[in-house]
Amino acid sequence: MSEGKGGPGKGHRGSSLSIAAALEALRSRLSAVREVESVSLDEAGGRILAAPVVAPADVPAWANSAMDGYALRAQDLAVAREQGLPVSGEVLAGRPFAGRVEAGTCVRIMTGAVMPDGVDTVVIQEDTERRGDRMHLVAGDYERGGNVRPAGEDVRAGARVFAAGRRLRVADVGVLAALGVSPVAVVRRVRVAIFSTGDELRPVGEPLQPGQIHDSNRYTLRGLLKHDRCEIIDLGIVPDDLQATRTALERAAREADLTLSTAGVSVGDADFVKAAVAALGEIEFWGIAIKPGHPLAFGRVGRSWFFGLAGNPVSMMINYLQIVRPALDLLSGTAARDPRRFQVEAGETFSPSMRREEFPRGVLRIDEDGVQRVYRTGRQGSALLSSMSRADCLICLPCRAGEFKRGEPVWVEPLDCI
Ligand code: AMP
Ligand code: MG
Repeated sequence: MSEGKGGPGKGHRGSSLSIAAALEALRSRLSAVREVESVSLDEAGGRILAAPVVAPADVPAWANSAMDGYALRAQDLAVAREQGLPVSGEVLAGRPFAGRVEAGTCVRIMTGAVMPDGVDTVVIQEDTERRGDRMHLVAGDYERGGNVRPAGEDVRAGARVFAAGRRLRVADVGVLAALGVSPVAVVRRVRVAIFSTGDELRPVGEPLQPGQIHDSNRYTLRGLLKHDRCEIIDLGIVPDDLQATRTALERAAREADLTLSTAGVSVGDADFVKAAVAALGEIEFWGIAIKPGHPLAFGRVGRSWFFGLAGNPVSMMINYLQIVRPALDLLSGTAARDPRRFQVEAGETFSPSMRREEFPRGVLRIDEDGVQRVYRTGRQGSALLSSMSRADCLICLPCRAGEFKRGEPVWVEPLDCI
């Protein structure tokens, strides 16, 4: 797997790991950070639970009405139809009924109001007619317990609601709130040091001299890392210089669990990243059978893991989505997510690569015939970040000899998470 310390890359013919092999290598190497912190529910979304959550109480805590209507005994349903029942009171959400509802009577009840003692069934308002102080049941089929939400229907006290290692989703935070559980113990954020390399790079806000470009990679990378709830240590722009690269790596290694650089990791004359990593630590692999994004390096410096990501903006993002994100999952103590993919019809012809899994940027469309198909977002160069910005999915093309023709199923990976 290793190509030796800082050895020159061989180009992507024959020397590349498959994505699956790279992920397998990462699984065998990376383990979760151990520190745990306590966060309030406001901070909990997207974080990884450090311990299971056990429900301290039933949700809902009390049996309550699922509808606006009248609460009665099931035995009184027939009378309610034949001659109506006197209405002996009213019960609202948050205002429990004082006392017991007498047999042969009913109470007006609103959604979410606690079921009073003595009644077991709710008939919905639309099935009733109010005549003076009596409620007549004029429609509907009812059984005991109808339209009643029993205590613990959603979550039972003592149930294990979430396992350790779960990434908390929006609805999960809502479940924790319903249980009254806050704060929660989560794995501390993964600390990620980032820097861009390249003599041509200028920060946004500075005018460009001839030949210069703005450093867009750090913006997209920071956006991805923020989305993944990492703590970001931004080391800025590093010139194409071995010593400067070493200095940045040394600082990153002191502070970060993971270091990500962009560019300077290919086989050009100004590509110093691999040599710098090899001098301070180790390159474990370089070159992935992925298009775009082949020149990706993995290794470590001191106690920080390291990925040297491709420089081209699209390649860098695809490196992140396919390789770095699963690595972050491993570091943050959650099982690496399977990519979320589904199949749709190809809207046009796609020509996959024989050697590298390819990820053209796509848009999903429901065509006039009602069929969902995927189309490329125009031109696909790895420097054309607008191809990514227009995309709502990646089209996932495995290595194969023949084309995918319009109408053939292809896998897509939605990008709506970024
Ligand atoms: P390299 O891997 O250094 O050869 O870079 C590949 C391409 O990506 C070159 O065209 C670079 O100018 C471009 N590039 C490198 N870093 C960045 C960056 N931070 N933002 C935008 N483009 C970049
Ligand atoms: Mg460069």
